[in-house]
Amino acid sequence: MPHLDEKLELILAEVIRRNAGEPEFHQAVREVLESLGRVVAKRPDFFDDALIERICEPERQIIFRVPWIDDAGKVQINRAFRVQFNSALGPYKGGIRFHPSVNVGIIKFLGFEQTFKNALTGMPIGGGKGGSDFDPKGKSDREIMRFCQSFMLELHRHIGEYTDVPAGDIGVGGREIGYMFGQYKRLSNRYEAGVLTGKALFYGGSRARTEATGYGNTYFVQSMLGTKGTSFDGKKVVVSGSGNVAIYTVEKVTSFGGKVIAMSDSSGYIVDENGIDLKLVKELKEVRRARISEYLRIKGDGKGVYFVKAGDGSIWDVACDVAMPSATQNELTGRDAKTLVKNGVIAVGEGANMPSTPDAVRVFQEAGVMFAPGKAANAGGVATSALEMQQNASRDSWSFEQTEGRLATIMKNIHDTCYATADEYGVPGDYVSGANIAGFVKVAEAMRALGVI
Ligand code: GLU
Repeated sequence: MPHLDEKLELILAEVIRRNAGEPEFHQAVREVLESLGRVVAKRPDFFDDALIERICEPERQIIFRVPWIDDAGKVQINRAFRVQFNSALGPYKGGIRFHPSVNVGIIKFLGFEQTFKNALTGMPIGGGKGGSDFDPKGKSDREIMRFCQSFMLELHRHIGEYTDVPAGDIGVGGREIGYMFGQYKRLSNRYEAGVLTGKALFYGGSRARTEATGYGNTYFVQSMLGTKGTSFDGKKVVVSGSGNVAIYTVEKVTSFGGKVIAMSDSSGYIVDENGIDLKLVKELKEVRRARISEYLRIKGDGKGVYFVKAGDGSIWDVACDVAMPSATQNELTGRDAKTLVKNGVIAVGEGANMPSTPDAVRVFQEAGVMFAPGKAANAGGVATSALEMQQNASRDSWSFEQTEGRLATIMKNIHDTCYATADEYGVPGDYVSGANIAGFVKVAEAMRALGVI
């Protein structure tokens, strides 16, 4: 276990006590505090004015009921959240997640991570996150619309282009953002495009936003590989998940000469030794909203294609050079990490938020595997959301090339900042410490400048 400074240990104990039963939040805070020992050793002034305690406490937490009527005419109830974590650098910014596993601890961990991630982008955005335990799986389009409208009926009073700007996350994509924006517009009687990001192009969305998280992670890993004089070219890659992040990771990795051989969803994983047929995955996931097992049914058995049901194995059993977990938190365990190391993995880039368990991170770092933590590597999505806000504010719409160009520069800067910060603090190549320290210092300095608020 990394050493935790005595004062930081006390701060963590207090966070755990005040937020009982929220293990993911504890995990996220512990990881950041573990990196801060080196900072406070040089800069004990960061202990002043309860700066670290304040960073661990959300500025505001909203919990509300969402009633809606299903297609059978029955009233359903869900619980929803918006955690406005930190606004030192700009309006709260972060996605909305619809998934049955959502609870206040999950949203808090995501909001905490988001605060540092957003700081790393260099854009003027604070950190927040929201969501609901609503399960979009199997719901009709009309049910999704009614739920989104009811959700926004409460949320609208808490958000705004200068206050809090939500976007998508797991279970929330362009369709849901459209229904939420429509309801917000109706309730506020304002065409306030910058209140939500991830919008479709024809009503104020940004080009390259859909692709941004996956492309951004790929750019980050490409830079990381570059520090060791190598690249994606000719590498075997495994990308877990098959949502928006995973799909556009596969697209970019392939364009850089890598070969993605496996993807997954909650039903299991598919392997295609010939390289994943991304056109088919897009059709299954973006159009038909089908299970990934359909891939095997369409491609046929044999010829290097197979499917493993969830519970019968782990996608991380598939040997690869680069692993890009892009599904959900804690999906890659210590055991998985050991298997990947045994099979010769050289780099890991987290497309999802906190997909590797603390054990897994330790295994990678001890084995000398290059490891890019989500809060740095997957920041391209939210960075492009900030570019969407810029376009909305100037009533402009940029070309794909211009937007992707900005994204590529931002990702390179994040990579270089993490790398240089790790060097400066005596842990060369440790991107976890680099990201946590660089993100923390930026937020903490801004908070100090704003006084005790
Ligand atoms: N949900 C994404 C994330 O985890 C994007 C948030 C946003 O665009 O605001 O960073």
